[in-house]
Amino acid sequence: TKILAIETSCDETAAAVVVDGRQALSNVVATQIELHRRFGGVFPEVASRQHVLAIQTVIQQALEQAGVPHVSALDAIAVTHGPGLAGSLLVGVNTAKGLAFASGLPLLPVNHLEGHIYSNWVALPGQTGEVPEPIFPVVVLIVSGGHTELILMHGHGRYRQLGSTLDDAAGEAFDKVARLLGLGFPGGPAIQRAAQQGDATRFDLPRPLMQQEEHRFNFSFSGLKTAVLNLTRQLEAEGVNPQDPETAAHIAASFQEVVAEVLVSKTLDAALTYGARQVCICGGVSANARLRTLAQERCAQAGLPLYIPPLALCTDNATMIGAAAYYRWQQDPAAVGDLGLDVFATLPLPTESD
Ligand code: ATP
Ligand code: MG
Ligand code: FE
Repeated sequence: TKILAIETSCDETAAAVVVDGRQALSNVVATQIELHRRFGGVFPEVASRQHVLAIQTVIQQALEQAGVPHVSALDAIAVTHGPGLAGSLLVGVNTAKGLAFASGLPLLPVNHLEGHIYSNWVALPGQTGEVPEPIFPVVVLIVSGGHTELILMHGHGRYRQLGSTLDDAAGEAFDKVARLLGLGFPGGPAIQRAAQQGDATRFDLPRPLMQQEEHRFNFSFSGLKTAVLNLTRQLEAEGVNPQDPETAAHIAASFQEVVAEVLVSKTLDAALTYGARQVCICGGVSANARLRTLAQERCAQAGLPLYIPPLALCTDNATMIGAAAYYRWQQDPAAVGDLGLDVFATLPLPTESD
């Protein structure tokens, strides 16, 4: 089964051709990072306009690189219909509708978060080495720009939410702290780069929600961001410029360490509590080198199999959308979209309560 997948939920215009949810034949991503840098964040109207300009070329490249001569050689068209920026989502959804209508292929709507989850079990074009299949139950940590969710997965498409952030997402915290430190956009890679020269034990920052039993699997990052803000003010009062490269490096390293520690501790706690046979971490923040190393160390100690996708599948891409679409379609062949398919700025994962 060959699926063309389209992803335009934020600031990446992406298309991919994916076989049986496991192997991408192409994975094209046109990122708008440079365009948004001068705004210090994603500017929604600029993002949707750029998707309009890029999408035809991105899809053409994805088909060409996959050796697909024409859309009619495919089995379905998948597209992210939420969550994300409404204007951005519309570009992908309308394009997918057009292709599906013209070719008569089924239109498969995909939840972007389910896409991030399936980034764990799909191979990039030419990727060497084994990509695992899920071994249920799986504990999945989704850490991205807009979400931080701890999920227990019992089977394909069967999710139970164990916890989530009460305020800011982890990626959002990276972006906001980077701005405080004058490190620019996007914040995650900038913090990681600065932190390499820093001492993570230099500043003592709070580890949010590590003590309260009722929030055992929840997260909170806005207090941590405020703690960094207060630290920068205190340093300024002492005549130290927090944006001076050496000081910023120490703050970045201390912040990154706390975030990694909290994310990994809670994920392991959940995995051991629910008897997980596999631990997966996905979403943009899972590209973070410190988080990856700490998760590897702790899972090895606990004897838990860990998988984190290659960097290209951590941030937004269409391969993960094609993978999620395949499994959802298998589960529920009737779950196809029609020309009335709508977009959703917020769209929770379809979860079960137990
Ligand atoms: P969502 O998936 O919640 O809708 P999104 O699609 O915008 O949000 P992603 O593209 O998955 O989010 O991830 C982007 C986020 O990942 C940004 O906040 C960015 O700062 C963060 N990020 C990227 N690389 C790194 C890194 N190396 N370290 C930490 N954070 C990172
Ligand atoms: Mg992005
Ligand atoms: Fe995302």
